[in-house]
Amino acid sequence: MTEPDQPDAQRAIDLKHLRRAIELGDLAVTQGNHPFGSVLVSGAGEVLAEGMNSHSIDKGPGHAEANLARTAAREFDIATLRDATLYTSVEPCSMCSGTIYWAEIGTVVFGMTERLLGEMTGDDPENPTQDLECRQIFASGRRPVDVRGPFPELEDRIVAQHRAFWRSGADE
Ligand SMILES: [Zn+2]
Repeated sequence: MTEPDQPDAQRAIDLKHLRRAIELGDLAVTQGNHPFGSVLVSGAGEVLAEGMNSHSIDKGPGHAEANLARTAAREFDIATLRDATLYTSVEPCSMCSGTIYWAEIGTVVFGMTERLLGEMTGDDPENPTQDLECRQIFASGRRPVDVRGPFPELEDRIVAQHRAFWRSGADE
């Protein structure tokens, strides 16, 4: 669900940080990991921390958003975390949404839906993508987490990033 009434200025800021999250996904691949990245930005607009994927069947669960949220929760106080926005190239899964919730982060902005990712990862055992909107998970909580996304203008870029990576698992 996009938010057409979102002020242009906020949207431009969101796009800037989402593009950095996508770049971090490319960087993760150069380090032998999956193409996912995320950025934590303070209420004042300062980049607080960045996260990259470190996940594999062998290494265990290490999604970019959960990695970042865990690190941030240890480094920053609750007021800072609740004011902060976690930007991520792809909608956070249940594990990451749960970690974001428990890390007290206030807002999530994602580029592409998890459902669309699932169409590309297919049955790849390295990324058995779930099909669950993060808004559903946050709606089940006892404190609000605001969500913005997906951003259709970034979809081609993110789709290309994942098609290139998951081609062995997709039926093309
Ligand atoms: Zn995840």
